[in-house]
Amino acid sequence: MENFVEFDGIQKTYDGENLVIKDLNLSIAKGEFVTLLGPSGSGKSTALMLLAGFEPPTRGTIRLNGKTLNSVAPFHRNIGMVFQNYALFPHMTVAENVAYPLRVRKIGKSEIEERTRKALDLVQLGSFGGRYPKQLSGGQQQRVAVARALVFDPELVLMDEPLGALDKKLREEMQVEIKHIHENLGITMVFVTHDQDEALTMSDRIAVFDDGRIQQIDKPATLYECPANQFVADFIGETN
Ligand code: ADP
Ligand code: MG
Repeated sequence: MENFVEFDGIQKTYDGENLVIKDLNLSIAKGEFVTLLGPSGSGKSTALMLLAGFEPPTRGTIRLNGKTLNSVAPFHRNIGMVFQNYALFPHMTVAENVAYPLRVRKIGKSEIEERTRKALDLVQLGSFGGRYPKQLSGGQQQRVAVARALVFDPELVLMDEPLGALDKKLREEMQVEIKHIHENLGITMVFVTHDQDEALTMSDRIAVFDDGRIQQIDKPATLYECPANQFVADFIGETN
């Protein structure tokens, strides 16, 4: 298996004392859908921040497609990100929001229009380009965020609890949509959730986090049937 994303001996401390990532080794293959699952405070978001480049690792090396990322600025990493709270620009239309990553990359106007249209079609918001974020539902806003993360054709997409603010029905619809996008584009995705069911239905593999370490990484069925320890058994067995 080719290692497309690699965390190699990663540690992270924010304050010089407490290690919030204690020892992270994780390899993700190209095209894989990997979920980081674990309780609040276990280090899932920090792992994504390290990969996106918003935080430096205290120790260890992160690689993407064979290149060491440690000193590459976030903007040059070619990684799309979606957060729980959408983070859309309220003063920009939907189309302007989606086009933003292309504008900052100095892409020509006609190509921006073409790619923005395609990205909005992909999330089934083709006719919503002229609206403002506040004129959309929560689910629609989150789809705009997904379109914006995909529009520049990233090598990797990171999603940090993207469906956490949605109600159950909408969340299940969006789970299916995100899986369709993953399959259609064949893009590598790292997804974060604390919801066991969401992780079990969406993932090729799940990394179970606890206290800054991966307790087990396996296919959903394996985690369910052969948990490596009591923590994994209890956490996977919990229902929401
Ligand atoms: P999760 O996403 O699994 O809930 P986080 O990665 O957000 O976990 O947090 C892991 C630990 O790091 C927590 O104890 C949290 O309080 C701490 N932490 C996260 N971000 C910061 C920060 N910017 N500064 C200091 N501590 C932080
Ligand atoms: Mg988090």
